[in-house]
Amino acid sequence: MSNAARFPAPGGNKTESEEGTVFAPRFDAEGLVPVVATSARTGEVLMLAYMNEEALARTVETGEAHYWSRSRGRLWRKGEESGNTQRVVEMRTDCDQDAIWLKVEAAGADAACHTGRRTCFYRAVPLGVAPGGGVSLRFVDSERQFDPEAVYRHADAAKGTLKSSE
Ligand SMILES: [Zn+2]
Repeated sequence: MSNAARFPAPGGNKTESEEGTVFAPRFDAEGLVPVVATSARTGEVLMLAYMNEEALARTVETGEAHYWSRSRGRLWRKGEESGNTQRVVEMRTDCDQDAIWLKVEAAGADAACHTGRRTCFYRAVPLGVAPGGGVSLRFVDSERQFDPEAVYRHADAAKGTLKSSE
Protein backbone atom coordinates (compact mmCIF):
# COMPACT_ATOMS: atom_id res chain seq x y z
CA MET A 1 0.00 0.00 0.00
CA SER A 2 1.36 3.42 -0.90
CA ASN A 3 1.88 6.06 1.73
CA ALA A 4 -0.90 8.06 0.17
CA ALA A 5 -3.30 5.32 1.21
CA ARG A 6 -2.41 5.62 4.88
CA PHE A 7 -4.39 7.57 7.41
CA PRO A 8 -2.80 9.47 10.29
CA ALA A 9 -2.44 7.48 13.49
CA PRO A 10 -5.02 8.41 16.11
CA GLY A 11 -3.52 10.64 18.76
CA GLY A 12 -3.99 10.15 22.47
CA ASN A 13 -5.99 13.34 22.68
CA LYS A 14 -9.68 12.55 23.23
CA THR A 15 -10.85 16.04 22.34
CA GLU A 16 -8.99 16.00 19.03
CA SER A 17 -10.47 12.61 18.16
CA GLU A 18 -14.01 13.62 19.15
CA GLU A 19 -14.18 17.26 18.17
CA GLY A 20 -11.39 17.68 15.62
CA THR A 21 -11.55 17.49 11.84
CA VAL A 22 -8.66 15.06 11.28
CA PHE A 23 -9.87 11.67 10.06
CA ALA A 24 -7.63 9.34 12.06
CA PRO A 25 -9.49 6.02 12.17
CA ARG A 26 -8.79 3.68 15.04
CA PHE A 27 -8.23 0.12 13.80
CA ASP A 28 -8.51 -2.79 16.22
CA ALA A 29 -5.70 -5.21 17.10
CA GLU A 30 -6.30 -7.05 13.82
CA GLY A 31 -6.11 -3.83 11.83
CA LEU A 32 -9.83 -3.71 11.16
CA VAL A 33 -12.62 -1.25 11.73
CA PRO A 34 -16.31 -2.30 11.78
CA VAL A 35 -18.55 -0.78 9.13
CA VAL A 36 -22.30 -0.59 9.12
CA ALA A 37 -23.90 0.01 5.75
CA THR A 38 -27.40 1.39 5.49
CA SER A 39 -29.58 2.13 2.51
CA ALA A 40 -29.33 5.77 1.49
CA ARG A 41 -32.88 5.40 0.20
CA THR A 42 -34.73 3.70 3.05
CA GLY A 43 -32.36 4.02 6.01
CA GLU A 44 -32.53 0.31 6.78
CA VAL A 45 -29.44 -1.51 7.99
CA LEU A 46 -28.05 -3.63 5.16
CA MET A 47 -24.91 -5.23 6.50
CA LEU A 48 -22.11 -5.14 9.01
CA ALA A 49 -18.63 -5.70 7.66
CA TYR A 50 -15.01 -4.76 8.28
CA MET A 51 -12.43 -2.65 6.53
CA ASN A 52 -8.69 -2.71 6.84
CA GLU A 53 -6.73 0.43 6.04
CA GLU A 54 -6.52 -0.35 2.33
CA ALA A 55 -10.23 -1.07 2.01
CA LEU A 56 -11.00 2.18 3.76
CA ALA A 57 -8.58 4.12 1.58
CA ARG A 58 -10.01 2.64 -1.62
CA THR A 59 -13.54 3.40 -0.49
CA VAL A 60 -12.63 7.02 0.20
CA GLU A 61 -10.80 7.33 -3.12
CA THR A 62 -13.35 5.68 -5.36
CA GLY A 63 -16.68 6.20 -3.60
CA GLU A 64 -17.30 2.46 -4.07
CA ALA A 65 -17.56 0.28 -0.97
CA HIS A 66 -14.54 -1.95 -0.39
CA TYR A 67 -14.31 -4.28 2.58
CA TRP A 68 -11.91 -6.74 4.11
CA SER A 69 -13.27 -10.27 3.91
CA ARG A 70 -12.38 -12.03 7.12
CA SER A 71 -13.51 -15.40 5.80
CA ARG A 72 -11.49 -15.12 2.58
CA GLY A 73 -8.66 -13.08 4.08
CA ARG A 74 -8.56 -10.56 1.27
CA LEU A 75 -9.68 -7.17 0.07
CA TRP A 76 -13.10 -7.30 -1.47
CA ARG A 77 -14.81 -4.76 -3.69
CA LYS A 78 -18.47 -5.17 -2.82
CA GLY A 79 -20.30 -6.64 -5.78
CA GLU A 80 -17.19 -7.68 -7.70
CA GLU A 81 -18.76 -11.08 -8.37
CA SER A 82 -22.48 -10.49 -7.93
CA GLY A 83 -22.67 -7.05 -9.57
CA ASN A 84 -24.35 -5.75 -6.42
CA THR A 85 -21.93 -2.89 -5.96
CA GLN A 86 -22.45 -0.13 -3.42
CA ARG A 87 -22.00 3.53 -4.29
CA VAL A 88 -21.26 5.47 -1.14
CA VAL A 89 -23.49 8.50 -0.78
CA GLU A 90 -22.08 9.49 2.59
CA MET A 91 -19.43 8.10 4.91
CA ARG A 92 -19.38 8.94 8.59
CA THR A 93 -17.17 7.98 11.47
CA ASP A 94 -18.28 7.88 15.09
CA CYS A 95 -17.18 9.89 18.14
CA ASP A 96 -14.00 7.95 18.86
CA GLN A 97 -13.39 7.10 15.19
CA ASP A 98 -13.43 3.35 15.67
CA ALA A 99 -16.50 2.62 13.55
CA ILE A 100 -17.68 3.62 10.09
CA TRP A 101 -21.16 4.23 8.76
CA LEU A 102 -21.78 4.07 5.02
CA LYS A 103 -24.98 5.28 3.44
CA VAL A 104 -25.05 3.42 0.16
CA GLU A 105 -26.95 3.13 -3.07
CA ALA A 106 -27.00 -0.48 -4.15
CA ALA A 107 -26.62 -1.34 -7.83
CA GLY A 108 -27.52 -4.60 -9.53
CA ALA A 109 -30.19 -6.63 -7.81
CA ASP A 110 -30.35 -4.22 -4.85
CA ALA A 111 -29.16 -6.97 -2.53
CA ALA A 112 -26.44 -6.50 0.07
CA CYS A 113 -26.39 -10.09 1.27
CA HIS A 114 -24.64 -13.00 -0.43
CA THR A 115 -27.75 -15.08 0.29
CA GLY A 116 -29.55 -12.89 -2.26
CA ARG A 117 -31.44 -10.75 0.20
CA ARG A 118 -31.58 -6.98 0.41
CA THR A 119 -30.27 -6.95 3.97
CA CYS A 120 -28.16 -9.41 5.93
CA PHE A 121 -30.53 -8.84 8.85
CA TYR A 122 -33.42 -10.90 7.56
CA ARG A 123 -34.19 -12.91 10.70
CA ALA A 124 -35.63 -11.61 13.96
CA VAL A 125 -34.77 -12.92 17.40
CA PRO A 126 -37.88 -13.12 19.57
CA LEU A 127 -37.81 -11.16 22.81
CA GLY A 128 -39.30 -11.98 26.17
CA VAL A 129 -38.49 -15.66 26.04
CA ALA A 130 -36.07 -17.67 28.16
CA PRO A 131 -32.93 -18.20 26.02
CA GLY A 132 -32.31 -21.57 27.65
CA GLY A 133 -35.37 -23.08 26.05
CA GLY A 134 -33.99 -22.64 22.53
CA VAL A 135 -34.85 -19.47 20.63
CA SER A 136 -36.37 -19.79 17.18
CA LEU A 137 -35.54 -17.13 14.61
CA ARG A 138 -38.35 -15.61 12.61
CA PHE A 139 -37.81 -14.77 8.93
CA VAL A 140 -38.54 -11.13 8.07
CA ASP A 141 -37.50 -9.19 4.96
CA SER A 142 -36.27 -12.51 3.69
CA GLU A 143 -37.32 -12.45 0.05
CA ARG A 144 -34.40 -13.15 -2.28
CA GLN A 145 -33.60 -10.53 -4.91
CA PHE A 146 -31.35 -12.94 -6.78
CA ASP A 147 -30.46 -16.60 -6.80
CA PRO A 148 -27.04 -16.81 -5.15
CA GLU A 149 -26.30 -20.21 -6.64
CA ALA A 150 -26.79 -18.97 -10.19
CA VAL A 151 -24.95 -15.68 -9.62
CA TYR A 152 -21.87 -17.05 -7.89
CA ARG A 153 -21.65 -20.12 -10.14
CA HIS A 154 -21.69 -17.76 -13.09
CA ALA A 155 -18.94 -15.63 -11.51
CA ASP A 156 -16.83 -18.72 -10.83
CA ALA A 157 -17.38 -19.98 -14.35
CA ALA A 158 -16.37 -16.62 -15.80
CA LYS A 159 -13.10 -16.83 -13.90
CA GLY A 160 -12.60 -20.40 -15.05
CA THR A 161 -12.53 -21.66 -11.51
CA LEU A 162 -15.69 -23.72 -11.68
CA LYS A 163 -14.82 -27.38 -11.42
CA SER A 164 -16.15 -29.47 -14.28
CA SER A 165 -17.66 -31.94 -11.84
CA GLU A 166 -19.95 -29.25 -10.44
ZN1 LIG B 1 -25.31 -11.25 4.34
